[in-house]
Amino acid sequence: MKCRFRRLRRGFYATFLAFIGTHNAYAYVPETGHAPLTQLAVQGYQQCFDNQTLATPNVLNRLLQGNMAMDHGTGSFSDEDEAIPGAITLFHLITRITNWHFYRPQEQRPQEQRLSKQKNVEMSHKRLWKMAVDGFAKATTPHDKWLFLGALLHLNEDLSVPAHVVPVYHGPTTLVDRLGEFESITRYPQDSNITSGFWLTEKITDQIDQMRVDKTRLSGAIKQQLPAYCQALTTQPLATPNSIKNNLAKQTLAFIDQPIPHCKGVKWSRFWDDVPEQSSPPLPSQRYFKLYNSEKGFALFGLAGVVSDKNGKAGCTLKDNDKRYLDFVFQLHLAAVKADVALLYWAGEGLGQKISTRRHGATE
Ligand SMILES: [Zn+2]
Repeated sequence: MKCRFRRLRRGFYATFLAFIGTHNAYAYVPETGHAPLTQLAVQGYQQCFDNQTLATPNVLNRLLQGNMAMDHGTGSFSDEDEAIPGAITLFHLITRITNWHFYRPQEQRPQEQRLSKQKNVEMSHKRLWKMAVDGFAKATTPHDKWLFLGALLHLNEDLSVPAHVVPVYHGPTTLVDRLGEFESITRYPQDSNITSGFWLTEKITDQIDQMRVDKTRLSGAIKQQLPAYCQALTTQPLATPNSIKNNLAKQTLAFIDQPIPHCKGVKWSRFWDDVPEQSSPPLPSQRYFKLYNSEKGFALFGLAGVVSDKNGKAGCTLKDNDKRYLDFVFQLHLAAVKADVALLYWAGEGLGQKISTRRHGATE
């Protein structure tokens, strides 16, 4: 009996693996979201610091490889990569099934620490984060370290997406329902166009994951803001990866607590947060996740529609790709790049090298 169950379960995991390898939708699309953010961060780091080890093009490729592998698995790894202690465990798609990329800063409180776990599923990224930090510490060559640093950059970048830190579940639905009592967080938005696909391919997508990273606009802002930001990194005590990601998560929560411009006091949080009370007692997944706003007629983030306050009073009408949406997402991306630069700085310092700040001004 037990054996048959195991076989069934293995069959299910195999389907799941094939699925998430191709239909992953848990966060920024790797190629159009994560990759440009990481590239901009490395570019910004090089603009600030004179560190020969981090300046080679191989480093960027290695960071991107680790970053992409968090969603795509170990397909790009060489035999040597697979032999790096901790690499397979962290990056394999099997790990991905039961370790999601959400993280709410409040979960550090002792009374909230268990909320993120249901059966085998860790909804928070905390196990992955620890594996990446440990892998980085134990790796014996810089080349190996960059792979783990790529994973840290990925998980960090995810925290600039509101639905990752509120958090609100997005990703496969039918498949996830097999892993635990997740129906309450996967079934509710059925008739909105947040949900697409059918049966095994059915998933909830987050608009922000799909939105383009505006590299030109970000490059401009980075050039302007980074000298002061990097200067502060070198004069303050060295921030740990934990504090860097927590700061970013809190910043994202602070962004959504801002009013939408020209929208009669309605806050951005209405898109993810203020939703009707759920059943009592709430299921564990309901205590961890909030829901997308699926009130009738309410705009989906990024798309045209009316945005109203909690009492149903209309605040404003937003257009498809309204400038207010774009400005909001730009803020998120910029915060992600800056936090990435802080992680790169932390990593560079950890290699025990003397890193000097590039001079700005008369000589440049
Ligand atoms: Zn992710």
